Amino acid sequence: MATGKINVSVENIFPLIKKFLYSDHEIFIRELISNATDATLKLKHLTSIGEAKVEYGQPIIEVKVDKKGKKIHILDQGIGMSEEEVKKYINEVAFSGAEEFLDKYKDSAKDSGIIGHFGLGFYSAFMVAEKVEIISKSYADAPAVHWSCDGSPEFTIEKAKRKEHGTEIILHIAEDSTEFLEEARIQELLTKYNKFMPIPIKFGTRTETLPKPEGAKKEDPAPTREVDHIINNPNPAWTKKPTDLKDEDYKAFYRELYPMQFEEPLFHIHLNVDYPFNLTGILYFPKLSKDLNIQKDRIQLYQNQVFVTDNVEGIVPEFLTMLRGVIDSPDIPLNVSRSYLQADGAVKKIASYITRKVADKLTGLFKENREDFEKKWNDIKLVIEYGMLSEEKFFEKAEKFALYPSVDNTYYTFEELQEKIKDRQTDKDEQLVILYASDTEAQHSYIEAAKAKGYEVLLLDSPIVSHLMQKLETSKEKLKFARVDADHLDNLINKDDTPISKLSEEEKEALKSKVEEVVKDKGYTIQLEAMDSHASPFIITEPEFMRRMKEMQQTGGGGMFGMGNMPDMYNLIINTNHELVGQILSTKTAKKRERLINQSLDLARLSKGLLKGKELTSFIKRSYEMIK
Ligand code: ADP
Repeated sequence: MATGKINVSVENIFPLIKKFLYSDHEIFIRELISNATDATLKLKHLTSIGEAKVEYGQPIIEVKVDKKGKKIHILDQGIGMSEEEVKKYINEVAFSGAEEFLDKYKDSAKDSGIIGHFGLGFYSAFMVAEKVEIISKSYADAPAVHWSCDGSPEFTIEKAKRKEHGTEIILHIAEDSTEFLEEARIQELLTKYNKFMPIPIKFGTRTETLPKPEGAKKEDPAPTREVDHIINNPNPAWTKKPTDLKDEDYKAFYRELYPMQFEEPLFHIHLNVDYPFNLTGILYFPKLSKDLNIQKDRIQLYQNQVFVTDNVEGIVPEFLTMLRGVIDSPDIPLNVSRSYLQADGAVKKIASYITRKVADKLTGLFKENREDFEKKWNDIKLVIEYGMLSEEKFFEKAEKFALYPSVDNTYYTFEELQEKIKDRQTDKDEQLVILYASDTEAQHSYIEAAKAKGYEVLLLDSPIVSHLMQKLETSKEKLKFARVDADHLDNLINKDDTPISKLSEEEKEALKSKVEEVVKDKGYTIQLEAMDSHASPFIITEPEFMRRMKEMQQTGGGGMFGMGNMPDMYNLIINTNHELVGQILSTKTAKKRERLINQSLDLARLSKGLLKGKELTSFIKRSYEMIK
């Protein structure tokens, strides 16, 4: 047996490793299995080019937990190492690698900005082990070797008996890391980090039920046998060619990624590029609800099939973080902070590639099967609208497929909508007026009024749509959006077929002052208008601008912060051609007139959804009194 001292400048780097990487101890398993995988793939390569004389066969990696002996074993059937190689790769390369890593990252490792800890490799074993042994035999004909190190720079090295090529790493788990002696914990980590690694990983056995032999009785139990429990899928869908996959395969892979997710994805996008960067992956559009935040962080980032993180912020454009799936790229620098990552040229290219692929996929779906695209619109609009708002390039492409549904379920592209309404819905400045509702129930009476006039009313109800309208209005000329209850329609659109007022100027003056008298403290701006005699006598509207600013403030962004709480502003529009209005004018007793006005006002408030609580109760009571 030989002993030696590893040549490192830091007397004892292990306490340092422990200290600086404290939060991420669990990654030792990822690092060691990555090494075992590399060693196996190297052997595969060497046998394929005839360099290695051994049989490649069907190698696996095995993980064993020996709770009693407080050990974890990681075994591979890869190229293995000779004594010289252990000295070189473990004592020198790995150690200096670890040292270099610590030098470089000991500051950044402390702040949470650091992503993963790739590069620490073999020495991450000392984050959980007080002693590590390596038993290895090279595929080349050299004696097996046994290396052992207890965390100080001293190590021992001697001959070992192992006959098969490959490596066994034995971790003597330290007192403060005994959580890793729990099988369930290791199972959890293997599933998290190694679920799609390219070499089968065995962890224990499982019982397989076999078919009953012929002639077996009903009550006879089916025979069983113990088989290797392979925890990973070495050939995940994203590593395959799109032409080799059917829709069913993509759905199956989605279930593999999200076993707890019962809803099927709407569609997928297979990513595959090898120049100027390497990236593969599959993204899925899930059905989205209105809550934006809970759906984020479902995309998993891998490097060569090794799980890295499920926080892809800075790599995937913000609006696409609501999607699900996998991205695998060796070209994303990981030992850097997020802000550095966002400024990285390669990462920027990756983000814009993903954006383009998503836009192209949507364009394709729209062109190939518009009917189906319309059916999915409600579930995907949030992502698309968000993308249109945040990425100019995406906006340009999305213009062709973004849809604007009417309250009656006709889906228009912007161009089609423009064509449809341009003759009827323009105001005196020749601006196109796009009427919309955000809630068909709450705005029912307003929608009906607009439809009666032959106007097209859209249903725009996603939470960020006010921001999108703002953007469309500024990026296109002669266009405005107005909610059906934003203003009186004739006022908004300024049609020339507005009816003539039946009241004279004096009568109008008198009416206005009489109504004002009753509602003066309630904060309404009173407007008199000649409408159809069938239209409601009193209508309450809320100016588009103020309401939209408030909405934008609520959904955030757009520089709307800090404007304080904006007051509610309402208009009270009085239809001078309604019979009731004539009645208000001709009523002699002030009491009776007040009652008429208050009742009409409350009805208008009721249809705008403004009558609540105490006021609603007294309105109902009053109404019963009246019909008694
Ligand atoms: P890295 O894997 O980043 O090179 P490591 O510190 O993890 O750094 O490992 C150092 C070297 O030790 C590897 O490059 C490899 O040559 C060797 N090595 C580690 N684990 C194994 C293994 N299971 N089988 C064969 N060689 C190994």
